[in-house]
Amino acid sequence: MSKLADTGVVLAGVRKSFASLDVIHGIDLEIAEGSFVVFVGPSGCGKSTLLRMIAGLEEVTDGEIEIKGRNVTDLDPSERGIAMVFQSYALYPHMSVRENLAFGLKMARTAAAEIEARVKAASAILKIDHLLDRRPGQLSGGQRQRVAIGRAIVRKPDVFLFDEPLSNLDAELRVSMRIEIARLHRELGNTMIYVTHDQTEAMTLADKIVVLRDGRIEQAGTPRDVYENPANVFVAGFIGSPR
Ligand code: ADP
Ligand code: MG
Repeated sequence: MSKLADTGVVLAGVRKSFASLDVIHGIDLEIAEGSFVVFVGPSGCGKSTLLRMIAGLEEVTDGEIEIKGRNVTDLDPSERGIAMVFQSYALYPHMSVRENLAFGLKMARTAAAEIEARVKAASAILKIDHLLDRRPGQLSGGQRQRVAIGRAIVRKPDVFLFDEPLSNLDAELRVSMRIEIARLHRELGNTMIYVTHDQTEAMTLADKIVVLRDGRIEQAGTPRDVYENPANVFVAGFIGSPR
């Protein structure tokens, strides 16, 4: 693959088939370091599959993926410098928030003092310092989602991957968490790749929107580009439709 960028994330000719089903049809995409890119598109268009290939949770059928100038196509998830936040943020119910945040670092044999420092920093940025001794069952949905994001932050990833992280929250909470995630991006400055089928989330969070349909990119551009100059009827219909 020609080295397109030394930073950020690059997808070159990425394809995915499940047996005879072709799901992703050859995606070329350059994601600038520090940018907030949103994959948007209808259910089943391949958003999660694409994100999971970047994460290393799904093998690519063809093509290559680079993160920060490194070809990560064949690396394990733990070697890619990424952290992923899912829609179903299963926290460990029998552990405190502090233990939930620390668990992955403990498994990676991070030193105790370093774990404590990272947990402290992450809980400050997410404003959950006062919840550290609680169990997940004693938290609201929004607080639990903050803990899930905290578990990603403590790993100090180069790239954050979010797969519909707010879909399980009610409408009001979704709006406030969306604002929190935008603030997080400003404060941390990391590259963030965010999957949603919600065009309002896409329009408000993204530096760059990638509109997918049936495993192909229909359009990629700033929210304004996509809104004002939709490439085709599909994009216009999708971006313009009520949620
Ligand atoms: P989205 O996240 O946009 O809703 P997905 O990436 O989950 O879409 O799925 C894209 C397509 O790939 C769908 O047709 C889905 O059924 C199919 N798919 C996803 N994962 C698998 C799998 N493990 N095995 C077979 N088909 C799959
Ligand atoms: Mg999905």
